[in-house]
Amino acid sequence: MGKTTNLPSPLAGEGGGEDVGKGGGSVKSTCPYCGTGCGIIAEPGPEGWTVHGDPDHPANFGRLCSKGAALGETLGTQTCLTHPTIDGRRVGWDQAIAEVAGRIRSVIDLHGPDSFAFYLSGQLLTEDYYAANKLAKGFLGTANVDTNSRLCMASTVAGHRRAFGSDTVPGCYEDLELADLVVLVGSNLAWCHPVLFQRLKAAKAERGTRVVVIDPRRTETCDIADLHLALAPGSDVALFNGLLAHCAAAGALDHKFLADHTAGFTETLAAARADHVDITTEVARFYDWFATTDNVVTVFSQGVNQSSAGTDKVNAILNLHLATGRIGKPGMGPFSVTGQPNAMGGREVGGLANQLAAHMGFDAQAIDRVSRFWDAPRMATREGLKAVDLFRAMDEGKIRAVWIMGTNPAVSLPETDLVRRALARCPVVIVSDCVAETDTTSHAHIRLPALAWGEKDGTVTNSDRTISRQRPFLPAPANARADWWQVTEVARALGFGGWFNWTSPADIFREHALLSTFENDGSRDFDIGAQADTDYQALAPFQWGGKRLFADGRFFTADGRARLAPVSHRPPMEAPSPEFPLRLNTGRYRDQWHTMTRTGLSPRLSGHRPEPLLEMHPTDAGRLEDGALVRVSSRLGSYVARLRLTADQRMGEVFLPMHWNDQFAAHSVVGRMLPGHTDPLSGQPELKHAAVRVEPFAMAWSGLLVCDSLPALDCPWWVRRQAEGAQIVELAGGPTDQTALIATLDSSYGAARLEVQDPRLGTARYAWMADGKLVAALFLSVDRPEISIAWLAGLVGTDLVTPVERAAVLAGRAPNGFTDTGRTVCACFSVGVNTLTEAIRSQRLTSLEQVGAALKAGTGCGSCVPEIKALLAG
Ligand code: SF4
Repeated sequence: MGKTTNLPSPLAGEGGGEDVGKGGGSVKSTCPYCGTGCGIIAEPGPEGWTVHGDPDHPANFGRLCSKGAALGETLGTQTCLTHPTIDGRRVGWDQAIAEVAGRIRSVIDLHGPDSFAFYLSGQLLTEDYYAANKLAKGFLGTANVDTNSRLCMASTVAGHRRAFGSDTVPGCYEDLELADLVVLVGSNLAWCHPVLFQRLKAAKAERGTRVVVIDPRRTETCDIADLHLALAPGSDVALFNGLLAHCAAAGALDHKFLADHTAGFTETLAAARADHVDITTEVARFYDWFATTDNVVTVFSQGVNQSSAGTDKVNAILNLHLATGRIGKPGMGPFSVTGQPNAMGGREVGGLANQLAAHMGFDAQAIDRVSRFWDAPRMATREGLKAVDLFRAMDEGKIRAVWIMGTNPAVSLPETDLVRRALARCPVVIVSDCVAETDTTSHAHIRLPALAWGEKDGTVTNSDRTISRQRPFLPAPANARADWWQVTEVARALGFGGWFNWTSPADIFREHALLSTFENDGSRDFDIGAQADTDYQALAPFQWGGKRLFADGRFFTADGRARLAPVSHRPPMEAPSPEFPLRLNTGRYRDQWHTMTRTGLSPRLSGHRPEPLLEMHPTDAGRLEDGALVRVSSRLGSYVARLRLTADQRMGEVFLPMHWNDQFAAHSVVGRMLPGHTDPLSGQPELKHAAVRVEPFAMAWSGLLVCDSLPALDCPWWVRRQAEGAQIVELAGGPTDQTALIATLDSSYGAARLEVQDPRLGTARYAWMADGKLVAALFLSVDRPEISIAWLAGLVGTDLVTPVERAAVLAGRAPNGFTDTGRTVCACFSVGVNTLTEAIRSQRLTSLEQVGAALKAGTGCGSCVPEIKALLAG
């Protein structure tokens, strides 16, 4: 099932590579969002490009989710970085490369190799990652190469290596369809890996798969759960220790597998028995199902990883699968799903500061091997700084030059104010990005325009080890360059040209494949040497290691045995206190990706959750009202959001999304509240936990601005989103802020202003007109203005000729017959909540099938089905 999307025209005439359009034919590539790694087909047509799910890709077999289906709306050049700049001056590439190389060389000459760092991204392609890693670790002599994947799955890497001796995901997606019991731990699969969720849901319909969801929140994933364990955050180790003890008592362990293929069982079982878990009726049922079902897959994700005990949580899960022998066989195994499209590819080339390359660590043998393979003159010999420590070192003046590629650490890291201060203090900040304005690019001394999705050429690896090509189908903007090219040119400028003589990503992939097989002979899990001489352009998706590993019980430790790790429950680092009595959890929304630089451009995607919501149990609300603005504060910082009261949230806990930032809202960077506590083994920060309090954010007035372009707003609170044809901005302020706001809009728009005020009601309405067209409209009132937003957005840029039309704008009311569809529920078919509610009421719809037949809603990717069910339930 593929979703078709109209894309903008192919930007003809702006230069580009040989592969563009493939001579007018379709191009197979991969989605740039989550770690599911869905294959897509881009096809040129008379009105631009369309994107379908690739029916032959083994990750999705043609499916796409709402984000993948809306990819076309996120393409374009309006927000792109268009040319290199040095200290704000536009320069050519020759000068930019020379300056980058010169500044890096100066810093290293003065302060040593470890004064330089790369901060990379799971958005980069494997070839980009390989180039940066080789330059730093082999030629500059520093292992300060870390990545935003540290925030995503570093605990899984550490757990895998502790248990298996290698960072190996043992199973594949098919296992979710072959399992009789799927346990989802800390994973809102329905929103974060929607196509995998659809595959699981289809398997459940076919074979009756039992699904257990372990999550403090009742998420949309619970729509298919037979059992939801809403345990307190951080309980996972105790829960799985209790399960290990239960399986031992119930005779459900595989003692032959334990004896033949593992070590550490006795100590691990003793630690498990010593841990405490409350055996409620639900927990007992889960234990019974697990112990009595052979085909069990345990899927885990950021709810496990993003914790100060993340590695122990991973090992508690791996212990269970090793002790029951449920690994490496069809329909069973532990299964980590990664957040990012190429987190796995980054792991494969050493994109983490504690890995070298090709899944090798920093042992003497590996350092020597990689050094000889690269013929490296200045090999790093010890691990580098992990993300949180890297930015702390920058704040302390130890890192004096940083090259950030394809990520936005000024938003995504915890203790964000420290990160921003560190960037402000760092003498050399180089940022390669395809987006011009982010919270991070504003700190850059040198900006380098990179290629965007649709222009990039390389490979990515998804969560089940499938390596796929990402192929370009759009011409590159004239001055944008591939990340690998930028690194290669800087390496040449530094005098390392002989070692960086690549002319294409295919050259880099070949070297990467040869390194993976170099002196390997089966001693390391990652070996793609057979692909070294492949036809790179035609490369079809392939899974390294085959469908499953460890079927033979042989692991990549020195003695070939897996290690069970004794682990014990440790609570999150910050305990609630009288001053900060609530636990803050964070996570993703269905239709937004990371810091919104792409998904924030799509009206469809922005319509699902138009602004960040603080979710709270009604019992905790006290005097706070649903829909009111509230301020959330931790000991580090604060955040303003609209309150959503819901019993899906546990008492004593609140939830905020991770996506918003200074480009989209005032006071909505969640990282500002999060402390930088990290897991001692993985260095992964505890992004899902802070102690906070919630208070009213009482403002004198609320406002709604509908406009074509958004000026810089100096307003106590605002949040913006993209609608069809206009920006929608919600605002709030104090008694004296209105005058300044009107003055800002007057000077920004330079247009004639119409206004109507009603002091008795406390309302004021303004419209700015230029050449007879509506430029912007602003509505202010004590309470949130009730305006027909979709109708107004459609009027921006249109002629308003008659007084009646202008009066209607100031009234903010759509003419009879116009239906505002409301907040988007079904992004695939753009069906809003008002449309659904009205159809359910007027047509007396009672089932999903009836809603699908009437409106198509819910018949695309299916991510909205839980929300439609909730509307049907009233
Ligand atoms: Fe893209 Fe992930 Fe959606 Fe697939 S499930 S279309 S990879 S966002």
